[in-house]
Amino acid sequence: MVPDAAGRFGPYGGRYVPETLLAALDELDRAYRAARADAAFLGEVDRLLREFVGRPTQLTHAPRLTAHAGGASIWLKREDLAHTGAHKINNALAQALLAKRMGKTRIIAETGAGQHGVAIATACARFGIECCVYMGSEDVRRQKLNVFRMKVMGATVIEVDSGSKTLKDATNEAMRDWMGSVGNTHYVIGSVVGPHPFPMMVRDFQSVIGRECRAQCLEKIGRLPDAVVACIGGGSNGAGIFAPFVDDKSVRLIGVEAGGRANTPGDHAAALTLGAPGVLHGSLSYVLQDGFGQTADVHSCSAGLDYPGVGPEHSWWKDSKRVEYIAATDTEALDAFQLFSRLEGIIPALETSHAIHGAILVARAMPRESTLVINVSGRGDKDVTEVMRLLGLS
Ligand SMILES: *Cc1c(COP(=O)(O)O)cnc(C)c1O
Repeated sequence: MVPDAAGRFGPYGGRYVPETLLAALDELDRAYRAARADAAFLGEVDRLLREFVGRPTQLTHAPRLTAHAGGASIWLKREDLAHTGAHKINNALAQALLAKRMGKTRIIAETGAGQHGVAIATACARFGIECCVYMGSEDVRRQKLNVFRMKVMGATVIEVDSGSKTLKDATNEAMRDWMGSVGNTHYVIGSVVGPHPFPMMVRDFQSVIGRECRAQCLEKIGRLPDAVVACIGGGSNGAGIFAPFVDDKSVRLIGVEAGGRANTPGDHAAALTLGAPGVLHGSLSYVLQDGFGQTADVHSCSAGLDYPGVGPEHSWWKDSKRVEYIAATDTEALDAFQLFSRLEGIIPALETSHAIHGAILVARAMPRESTLVINVSGRGDKDVTEVMRLLGLS
């Protein structure tokens, strides 16, 4: 069972944080382990996932995408149908409930595109917890709609003006806040990144995707799928759908990163495909770095994948070869966005569009009797103005 007691996935993970945070991480680790062994807590998470989020999300066949790819039969795990339009709510809701159980009265979070910020603002509104979201000022400008969604649900959005004014800087500020506020505050990290126990805890909370998917495959297809494909930013939707299949050696697991506009430094966000081990935001993992070991600038058309690191468990899955990692470029994702909308009547998130591109390539090389599942991590309504701009329509 990974991670070990020190939060290590093979050599990756761990805790590279200032001493002031070690006690808080220990407290969180203890609280989480107690909660996950408590039927009342698990029952409450389960009830909210059903009644508030609308789970289980459907597993549906994609007939026209299947015909287009011309290989494996393609199925869709519909996380886009979850409340707020993406998988992030699964983790936000469960962590907010854990914070309440720990007696914390305030929640802080970082957000890039604003999707995690909206999910945590939603959960905090539902439970009546004070919510404070750190966001780079560059992202605040680019993501006006999500900033308003957070504010309308009562969250405070704090603009971060340091560094590149994006997600990485917002994360630094949130960690700084937590160092001075751990007494009454819980920090909700939005992906399977950060110091132990976050990568384990977020994976566990997102694993509801894979558990449902596995049971739905057995029920609707009559057997396990031959391949499962997900996009990889920090890696939470991927870890969530992969984890329950990891011991099923017949199931290929494929993660698709953001290949951006080129393979040159600063032009992509493919940490596993093109990065090297390093420390970022409290854990050891594959990171995009410059020649001096400094975190590199990144680019992706999709704000949710625009992050220089990735979860430590994915780094371990890469080295142990349990998961295959590939990259899709901005152009390939943009094409997949339009193709999927036309063929299936579902406008996917730009993040998800990377997985769709990868899935078409993988499915095409598989026999027709085989099956492949795409994790549709989110809906694309949030991306339509950006896509219009990229297509030169606005
Ligand atoms: C945030 C986001 C992602 C990327 O984050 P992961 O932690 O890698 O899942 C992917 N898809 C959608 C819709 C997102 O909002």
